Amino acid sequence: MDISTIKNQFPLLLQNPNLIYLDNAATTHKPQNVLSAMDQYYKVHNANVGRGNHDLVKLSTQDYENARTKVAQYLHAFNSDEIIFTQGTTDSLNKISQMLVDRINPDDIIAISISDHHSNFLPWQQITKNKDASLVTIGVTSNFELDLDTFFAKHPMEKVKVAAIPAISNVIGKVNHIQQIIERIKKENPDTLVIVDAAQAIGHEYLNVKRIDCDALAFSAHKMYGPQGIGVLYVKHELLATLSPVVLGGGMVESVTIDNYKPTTIPQRFEAGTPNVAGTVGLQTAIEFMQSIGIAEIKKHEQELVKYLVEKLQATITSGLHIYTDTNKLQNQSGIISFSIDGIDSIDIANFLNDDGICVRSGEQCAYPLHEQVIKTSTVRISFAIYNTKEEIDQMIESLSKAIKMLK
Ligand code: PMP
Repeated sequence: MDISTIKNQFPLLLQNPNLIYLDNAATTHKPQNVLSAMDQYYKVHNANVGRGNHDLVKLSTQDYENARTKVAQYLHAFNSDEIIFTQGTTDSLNKISQMLVDRINPDDIIAISISDHHSNFLPWQQITKNKDASLVTIGVTSNFELDLDTFFAKHPMEKVKVAAIPAISNVIGKVNHIQQIIERIKKENPDTLVIVDAAQAIGHEYLNVKRIDCDALAFSAHKMYGPQGIGVLYVKHELLATLSPVVLGGGMVESVTIDNYKPTTIPQRFEAGTPNVAGTVGLQTAIEFMQSIGIAEIKKHEQELVKYLVEKLQATITSGLHIYTDTNKLQNQSGIISFSIDGIDSIDIANFLNDDGICVRSGEQCAYPLHEQVIKTSTVRISFAIYNTKEEIDQMIESLSKAIKMLK
């Protein structure tokens, strides 16, 4: 695989040959194909989907529904009715939590993981507060694995209505074995609804919702070479058929009277308002981009980079380095590594690297509970995509060494 050929497909990287972008867990860059597809949509087919019957409506509706079919195939959903377009993971998780709110009673438990991003934390925290239910966090073991044993031992599973868990934490970066985790949860209580936050998995892992057997799954296009402001909420058909929309308005009704409304078919009833059609076109093209390389190849490349990074970090920073994952099992790692260095503020490191044209994430990474309860300091995160190289890691390490000398 020729990484420079792939990298050259990204206009922003092409125009900034000295930029070292290692913040892909925040958002990836977009290849020309994705940008062109969205541009073409607005230039050629632009109309409001499912409203009216002129030819442009038919064309844009076709684009929109083709994108839905593509996403359904990509996730191995039973059918495309299970795919709801949203603004992104945060929107998807807020929507599914609101759709389930009527099922939560006082004393029920909603389980999330301590490593969850705020987007999978706050919606459930709010519901448990409003409903006098309990929010329980599944901890992590010393190897940074989800500690289901302790969770099962401590909490009555018959009360666990919802378990919302990340396929990959945006801080730890370890691939959670989501299929086995769901099997274990469902064995304890088949009625627990399991929601997967796949924001960090979608650009790096093969996902098969049928096999995983989750009840719902959320992701954003912008973390998989697609545009910002578009995402997906997958919901298993049997569940979706029992849920009511939480956003009401145009495009989601069959008829309306003064007192009532009749919702249109699934999934359009969950997509009130004018959708981001260009975004869905970009998402479809991003999936095609990833497929043209192959998920296995992307994963292999990023794992090589992660191994190389960890070796370099450990060889260069001989004291005070903490890496927040199991460095002996990097075969289970996605392209994310978070670390801290004793006595140096992570934000100072990121600022120093930025001055050398190197983009990394620092701080609490939208995961305050994990940083407060487990890590106990702020972190620097390096996160890879298909266009990153070992040479970029070398340059980052060189800059980091200078930063340590200056800041310690
Ligand atoms: N969950 C995880 C694990 C994430 O990494 C992110 C983005 N950093 C989100 C949810 C939220 O995604 P978005 O901002 O695209 O809604």
